[in-house]
Amino acid sequence: MDICGMCNRESVLQNSHAIPDSVFKKILRSNSGKAIVVPSGGRDPIHYSSDSWDTNLLCSDCESLLNSLYEGYSLRVLRGSVGGVRRHDLGVTFSGIDPCRLASFFISVFWRAANSKHSSYGKVYIPEPWNGEIRDYLLKNTPIPINLVTVQISRLIDRTPKNGFTLRSLKSVVMSPFFRKHKYGKYSFCFVFEGFFVEIFTPGLTYSLRRRAGVILKDKRVLMVPYLDIFDVPEIVDALVKGYGKYLDGDITFKD
Ligand SMILES: [Zn+2]
Repeated sequence: MDICGMCNRESVLQNSHAIPDSVFKKILRSNSGKAIVVPSGGRDPIHYSSDSWDTNLLCSDCESLLNSLYEGYSLRVLRGSVGGVRRHDLGVTFSGIDPCRLASFFISVFWRAANSKHSSYGKVYIPEPWNGEIRDYLLKNTPIPINLVTVQISRLIDRTPKNGFTLRSLKSVVMSPFFRKHKYGKYSFCFVFEGFFVEIFTPGLTYSLRRRAGVILKDKRVLMVPYLDIFDVPEIVDALVKGYGKYLDGDITFKD
């Protein structure tokens, strides 16, 4: 028996995912069993993988709690089957959403990644006391204060005129999360999955910075998710350049 990372009870631990298993499954189904993995910072080239980055972390109760409270609902929102979705020149607007559940979903991915032993999540870390505080909020299904964690999301696009990534190919890209160091010793952690770029700030953004587009605010049921060109994300460009040799060799082909 092991100790559950969330409720601290002795239990048989489950295969827990940070980035949801269903994200990997959806990609694997449409891509002959392989996801396109863009490692960040390491020496590995871009590669196909059938590994869904799971490790034993949570008991079955905590696992299903996170899935039923946050994950199922949020993936339906992001995939457009709950609430309204409108595409326009600046991005995608989601309406009729429960912002606290959506924010808690991304924070639960972040928290699980930080507490996972899988090497793909090796760059994600939450210092105490925040790690414990976030765990308690998730476990009690209480909205997480925005000054503790702020979530900002963008929809990735590629404005390259010819032979660029299509939206469908961008949805097949999973990137190992990386961090950014900001002023005053603050950090953010960045995730790429389902065609979204998710940046999570802990401690949260200051009041004036929370007005940026794509920040999930707890009293706003409408969320405008701005477009973000993949070539405007230096870490993605860097990972793509490192993996480019492999790409030219024909080992990796990005299909529609
Ligand atoms: Zn548990």
